[in-house]
Amino acid sequence: MLFRSYFAVMQWKSNKLTYLKKQYADELYEFYEKGEANTILSILIKSFFGFSRIDIALNPDFRLSESEMLKLHFAVKELKNYKPVQYIIKKTDFLNVRLMVNESVLIPRPETEEMVSLIIDRDKEEGLHVLDIGTGSGCIAIALAKNLKNPEVWGADISAGALSTASKNAFFNEVMIHLSEFDILKPTEPKALGEFDIIVSNPPYVTGSDKVLMKENVIRFEPHEALFVPGDDALLFYRAILYFAGEHLVKNGRIYFEVNELYGEKVTGLLSSQGYTSVELFKDINGKNRFVSGVKG
Ligand code: GLN
Repeated sequence: MLFRSYFAVMQWKSNKLTYLKKQYADELYEFYEKGEANTILSILIKSFFGFSRIDIALNPDFRLSESEMLKLHFAVKELKNYKPVQYIIKKTDFLNVRLMVNESVLIPRPETEEMVSLIIDRDKEEGLHVLDIGTGSGCIAIALAKNLKNPEVWGADISAGALSTASKNAFFNEVMIHLSEFDILKPTEPKALGEFDIIVSNPPYVTGSDKVLMKENVIRFEPHEALFVPGDDALLFYRAILYFAGEHLVKNGRIYFEVNELYGEKVTGLLSSQGYTSVELFKDINGKNRFVSGVKG
């Protein structure tokens, strides 16, 4: 039987978790920088077996069953293929939100958490109407639904796979968000949506020339339609969103954008040229230009 012969070739020297972890860490050093390899492996083990680094240190004799060893073996194989660990364990955390992720959505980045924290700190009014354009996993929309004061939140995306993921994520986080499928580059479609107090977006902002600098695991696994601007116009989505905001953002409504670090000034310029006031450019935790906000005049 194919199945049996397959198991027969797996030769386990030990089923102790401490031993296996060390073994797999050594193998992963060929693919990742040491610290990263250990972190990824720890995330995997915690998710699969519930054991943190400390738990492993305190229980050096903990052993895995055959099926658990196989699970770990195949996951490490995927890591060697540069599959992001979040796609292997199918989840990640974003502020106080636990999210399911899959290959139809971008893995939420810590920079985006910073932008959402900024909105939570600033926008304290009750019942704000908020729209997140290009919602993906729903990370921004759900975190805002959870942390603003009784907001009404909409999430829009071109991808049906993303919207289905966002919908499940909203359900599991026990928040209500409205989801809408539309292509922001086709300005006739989104007319059905109403007016908003806040429009936020982390649109695709990676250009062809940035692509060469990107990591293998991002390019190979993450959805290209969420990352790359079609053509060479880095500001394409920002212009389209501002055009939409012309009709759908209330006067004095706020816009928040995550931006490509190379285009921060250009996006602030775009907002100012369209009559937005209090236009600000913020740096992320790595000191890179990353967020732009403005108030509709
Ligand atoms: N920040 C993401 C990256 O570094 C890009 C996200 C986006 O295009 N909106 O890959």
